[in-house]
Amino acid sequence: MYPGTLIGREETAAMPRVLTYHDVVEEHPDASGFPGGGPALYKLPTREFARHLDAIASTSASPILLPQLKGSNADDLAPLLITFDDGGVSAANIIADALERKGWRGHFFVTTDYIGRAGFMTAAQIRDLTSRGHIIGTHSCSHPRRMSACSPQILCDEWQRSRMVLSEILDKPVTVGSVPGGYYSESIALAAAASGLTDLFTSEPTTRMTMVNGLRVYGRFSIYRRTPLSKVTAIASGRRLAIMREAITWEMKKVLKIAGGETYLKLRKMILDRQHRYLL
Ligand SMILES: [Zn+2]
Repeated sequence: MYPGTLIGREETAAMPRVLTYHDVVEEHPDASGFPGGGPALYKLPTREFARHLDAIASTSASPILLPQLKGSNADDLAPLLITFDDGGVSAANIIADALERKGWRGHFFVTTDYIGRAGFMTAAQIRDLTSRGHIIGTHSCSHPRRMSACSPQILCDEWQRSRMVLSEILDKPVTVGSVPGGYYSESIALAAAASGLTDLFTSEPTTRMTMVNGLRVYGRFSIYRRTPLSKVTAIASGRRLAIMREAITWEMKKVLKIAGGETYLKLRKMILDRQHRYLL
């Protein structure tokens, strides 16, 4: 079957709030995850991350994992999930410990082409996270800059191969994924569904969950180095206004990205890398 065929789409009543973090670093931002000024915007210093977890703990929300979300009924308090993108080594040597100190577990999405490279987790570290109760998912093989611009064949290849690599490492099927790069389109979900994923997390700031050909597609709220704690707690507690504000800002950014295309990305990278070099 052509992977781009849409058979069914429906919106559901589930209202999970999902936070997206990336790396947590002691000093040099390039120590974990992708290097450079753009990725550095998403990396939190260790002490700041601890403050975030304390702030989340001060709300009534207690982070749960995907299997618990599926088991909860619609009357439950809107659940909170915490996710980490890219597969940087800080997942293994900083983040998991910090979550576990709170009695929590997280979802870690791994870019499989980078497994074992400098700044990224090794296969053994990925296995260790699973044995400690965390969930591992795919974040594609190569982390395409604009995944929405990839052909259906490339999309299927990115999901299928990365799923296979992780399933082999963990010796069990991996069926969860997150979309790299912040560019989402339905063709990404269709390819993910055709490749055997059951759950896909995007970067669209919404609490709505959509079913696409049987694949559950969840929105998420990105947390940056400079995201104020007040915003983290507002989203974690599900304050409507904070969530709406995120959605509006995202839509405005999307217009810019579409109008700018590749030029937007190149300019953004140039400016951020220059700042990055200046800061280090
Ligand atoms: Zn990523």
